[in-house]
Formats: sequence, structure tokens, C-alpha cells
Amino acid sequence: MTELERLQAAKIPGPDTGIEVKHTFCSICEPLFHCGVDAYVKDGTLIKVEGTPGHPMNRGSLCPKGHANRQYIYRADRIQTPLRRTGPRGSGEFEEISWEEAYREIAQRLNEIKASYGPESVLFYSGYAKWYRSFLQRLAHSFGSPNFGSESSTCHMATVEAWRDMVGTFSAYDVSNAATYLAWAVNPYHSKATQLTQLYEAKERGLKIVVIDPRITPTTAKLADLHLRIRPGTDGALALGMGKLIIDNGWVDQEYVEKHVYGFEQYAEYVKQFDLKRVCDITGLEARDIEQATEWYATNKPSCISQSGAPIVHHRNGYQNFRAIMSLSAITGNYDVRGGNFPIGETYSHQWANFNTKEHEFTHCTKPKNAPPRVGDVRYPLWGALIDEGQMIDLTRQLREETPYPMKAIMAFGLNHRMFPEPHKILEGVDQLELVVSTELFMTEMCRHSDFVLPACTSFEREEFKVYPGGFATYIKPVIAPLYSSKPDSTIIKELADALELDDPLLRSGYENCVRWMLSDCVLELDDCIREDMPVKVPDAKPFEPGVYTAAGYNTPTGKFEIWSTRIEKYLPKLDPLPTYTPPWDDADPEQFPLVLSVGARLPFALHSRMHDVPWTRSLRPDPMVDMNDGDAEELGIREGDWVILESAVGQVRVRANPTGRIMPRCAQLYHGYKEADANELVSSLHVDPYSGYPGYNCIRCRIRKEAETL
Ligand code: SF4
Repeated sequence: MTELERLQAAKIPGPDTGIEVKHTFCSICEPLFHCGVDAYVKDGTLIKVEGTPGHPMNRGSLCPKGHANRQYIYRADRIQTPLRRTGPRGSGEFEEISWEEAYREIAQRLNEIKASYGPESVLFYSGYAKWYRSFLQRLAHSFGSPNFGSESSTCHMATVEAWRDMVGTFSAYDVSNAATYLAWAVNPYHSKATQLTQLYEAKERGLKIVVIDPRITPTTAKLADLHLRIRPGTDGALALGMGKLIIDNGWVDQEYVEKHVYGFEQYAEYVKQFDLKRVCDITGLEARDIEQATEWYATNKPSCISQSGAPIVHHRNGYQNFRAIMSLSAITGNYDVRGGNFPIGETYSHQWANFNTKEHEFTHCTKPKNAPPRVGDVRYPLWGALIDEGQMIDLTRQLREETPYPMKAIMAFGLNHRMFPEPHKILEGVDQLELVVSTELFMTEMCRHSDFVLPACTSFEREEFKVYPGGFATYIKPVIAPLYSSKPDSTIIKELADALELDDPLLRSGYENCVRWMLSDCVLELDDCIREDMPVKVPDAKPFEPGVYTAAGYNTPTGKFEIWSTRIEKYLPKLDPLPTYTPPWDDADPEQFPLVLSVGARLPFALHSRMHDVPWTRSLRPDPMVDMNDGDAEELGIREGDWVILESAVGQVRVRANPTGRIMPRCAQLYHGYKEADANELVSSLHVDPYSGYPGYNCIRCRIRKEAETL
């Protein structure tokens, strides 16, 4: 081997090897992260990825998903050209067409549907990725439809709803300056690896960490000073019991409560029924552990509580459980303080970076006036009042019942029906539509049920403006050309707006111009971002100032932290304005279905179904496996690796058994995202939270039996 061959084999960049290192970011998981990536490119092909040292988000590290970017981008089933369906829906029979033909035909059919049934009969939907959402929502509005929806109808947004309900704005938590941290239902090793350095540093300086989680996880094992191994879905009862202890011990921040909390007296009266014995009976916890956690939280201040974007609100009682937990920050004066939970606004693309943009105005200034209710608005009016998009959990029903009006078309970007409970029902509804368009990277099942399929490209193949916490902004440029004839989602949206001949010159002026418009009130110059290939510090980014929001009065009807929600009173008068506790289980017979299943947890090397067809990541857990308590498995005569049938009242899947002590007795967990064993088929579409519409992905009654023939 020559010296040059050795350098090339080792992928050493330089003029000799022809290997260049370019900066971009990974967009496989949620936009909060989007870790900086050093892309090694030779002859226009990505040959290696590494984390970018000095990047404000990931400081050089990548998670297993990020390391698999190369296999992800070059997957064999990337959609190469626009496609038009030629066979029955679901058959996967398509013919290749040009972009011009695709735009012309899609626009013609959308305009016909609009003329016949009204613009609201067209739903504009975004799954993953999320970066173009404000553009797609504006496209919907300029088309005349109020109906924009996204996978946020089942992920994270219920926590935004709850925070807006209580304090008028979304809120974050300040681990770096906290003395006590309640890591409530979080496991950063699997879902937030970029936070670990911050946690290690905080622990080093003495941060007390209490982890509340039914499972034993790397977080409970490596970080917890105290692990409250709680029964699934009983978090609200624990929080209310902690509230009672705080009141009984005189740990309430009286001054904050008197000035800034609405509903404390009713709350104090309600929590009286959550004495320690009852809370222990409900949660399965030891009294001394609850007392210790409460004392640390209430007296070793400042204290913060994690947001836990999904696990808490993915219960039928999740919205109120979340409010009960966050009420602790109100009664102890741990809200809007350094080291506590604190208010944040949205800078861009649902991210917070301490400066303002005109993104909200951009998204909503063409919103149709006097439009009919959006999908979900009638059934979930609290969501409708607090969230700027429809609640898509009601889509299946509206497709079937056609009330308050029929839907006729979906213009989808990254729609994966498997995000929803009983996903086959969504597919059945979609098959009745007159027009389904899917914009996607890969040929998914939903694509096969679409009339047109449009090929999108990854973050490595496009430009994007992006902000990061701490006041950073960046504008990435393509590091490789878009594969085949794929295009950025933002380009597809602009070109559709052209084909539809929409009266929206700004949207039709293209992505970069729209971003310039959104930044027009900022000191930040987009050209500065474009010139740099690393995130720049935004000059007008202002750090969080404790107490400012509180002094101004909260953006709630009472101007206070509403433990008693006046919005629930108004929009859901039959439900409870206090964060009351109700049991989490579904309605199946516990005799027949004695175990409790959770399907909401994430694998560290997958995001929903996203990485399951990538060989490197799939090889780490090739078969779908139900994690079950080892004692329960022994009772049922089930051994590790056995094929078993996991059943709920609405469905069943065939999976391997993984007996483990990490799962509590009478509980089970199935990671979602496996096509051949779709966990969401076990979740009833009626098992939803009435406040948010969120599906109860956790606390499903189930049973497990050994398959007759073990392979
Ligand atoms: S998938 Fe991993 S590497 Fe990529 S953005 Fe998310 S955390 Fe970062």
C-alpha cells in the first residue's frame, strides 16, 4: 500500500487525498439537538462523519444515530424521483414523472377539491423532519385552509399546552444552577445525550438528583442520589402527596404564593386526601423516600424539575399529572428563579435561543379569517385555545364520520400513520381520500398509499437556518448535492405555492428571503450567518433574567400561576380545574390482562421507526422484544429469547421476550417503531387524555403468553 492509499484508507483530509471536511448538522432527531457534524466528503460523496468540536450543542460528540448518518443518507430505498400511483392504493405501483408534471397535477387537483368542498377539506401535515413547519403552515393558510397538523399531536406539545395553561408560556429548567433536580421520567442517556456533560458537571459541584422512573435505567444507576421507582402513571398522586408534605411542614413560599399563585387554597384543601399512606399504596413507593425527595426539593433550593416531553403526558391522566408536578414549583417559589423552572419564548422553529424573530407573524399573517374549526378543535377545545395547530388525534374520527365537515385531501410531509394509536385506522381513513401526497425520504407504507410521492433530501443536502439555546444561530449549506432528483422540503413548498398560483409573494420568493424577512427586526444579519460555517453568537440575544416575567404578571387570564386553571373552567367545564389525580389504566379487564404495558420509551439508537432500516443501528436490537420482569417471566415459563404473543384488548404482536430485573413486577415495556410488531396497534385510539387528546402510550393492560412453537 502506498502512503497515499494509506491516507485515503484512514480518511485523512487534505489536498493529497481529496477529502474535505465540511460543517453541517444531524437532523435525525428532534430540532432541539441537531448536533454539529464534521462531514468528510470525497468526490461529492459522504465518506465519514464526526461530531464537530466546539459546536454549542454537542461539543464534538454524536449519539449512535448520528454516527449512522452515512448509512441513513444512502439507504437503498431513498425515493429518487417524483412518482404517480398507477396501481391500487397500497400496491406500491408507481410511475416516474417529472417535477413539473407532479406540481401541475397536484395543484390542479388541490384547486378542484378546494372549489368543490372548501379549502378546509385539505389538511397540510408535517411529521419528521420539522424544520420547514412554519413554511408548510403558511402554505396551508395562504391556500385558505386552517388545517395544519403535525406529529406534535402525540409528542411533546401537551407539555407546552400545560405550561401555557398554568403560566402562559412554555418553560425550561436550569440544572446548571440548581441545588436539587427532580429528573422526572427522563433518561438522558437514551434521549438527551447532549445534556449529560451538563449533568456530570452539576453533580460534581453537589447537585442532588432524584430520579422518578418505574424502570432501572442508566440514569437511575449512574446519576441518582435517590431513585423513586414509582408505579407507571401514578406520578400525579406522588406530586400531590409531596404538595401535602410541603404544606404540612411549612415549606411553602408564602410570599410567592400570595402574590403570584391562583387556586392555592383549593389545592391545599384537595391535597389533604393524599396522606403518605395513601400515596405509598397508589405509587408503590416507600414513605421515607417520598419524604426525603420532598425535603430536598422544598428546602435544598433552588430546585428544578425536568420537562419530560413525552413520558408523563403519554398517559390517560397525563395532563393533570404534569400540572400536579409543575405545581410543586409554584408552591415552593421555584418558578422564574435561577436554578428553578423558568419561562422561555420561542425564537425559531419551536426553539428557544434568547432572541426574537418574526416567525410567528410569518406563519400566521395569512391565516384565513372566519375559518371553520380545525381538526380536533371541537373535541379538544383546550388544545384548540392554547396550541397553534389542529389536534390530529381526532383525524381518524373526522375521516370516518365526516363531521364537522369531510376531509378530502392530505398534503403530507413525513406523515407516518404509525405515530398514532391503532394506526391501521388512520390508513383506512386515508384510503378514502380523493388525494394523498407524501413528501418523504424513503418509500414508507404511507407513501405506498399515496397518489403522488415527492422525494425530499436530508440536512446534509440542503441549506437551513437554525438557532440554538444560549443565543446561537447558524445557516448550514449543502455538504453534498441532493441525491437523485430530491429537493429540500422548503423548495417543494415554494414550488407548490407557485403551481397553485397563490397570492403570497413572500412565500413564493423562496426560503432564504423568508428567513431574511423573519429576521428583519433582529440585530443579527443573515449574511453573517451565511458567511460563517459554525454557529455565531447573536448580538441581541439576552440571557434569562429571573423575576422579570413574574413582575410583569403571567400571560394567563388571572395574570398568575394558575394551579386552578381558569381556562379548563372555560373550555372544559365538565373536567377539573385543579390538577386532580385519576388512575391511568385503560378499561380492559385486569383479570384477563394482568400486566401493565408501556410503549412510549425510546431506544438510544432509534427515533420512532427512523433508524430501524439502517443496518448499523438495527443490528443493536434486531428483533422486537418485550422487556418484562424476570419473576413474571419465570412464573409464565418464559425464557430469554422465546417468541411470545403480547396482547392488549385491541391488538396483539409477536415479539421476543427479554426477562429483566430492570422492569417492575406486573409491568412490561415494548419499544415502538418496529413495523413487524407495531406497539401502537396495542393502544386503543379511545385511550386518550381528555385535556390534551394525547394517546395513553403507557399503562395499557396486557398479557403475555408463550408462542406454542418457540423458534
Ligand atoms: S440523532 Fe443524535 S447526533 Fe443526531 S441530532 Fe439527535 S442527538 Fe444529535
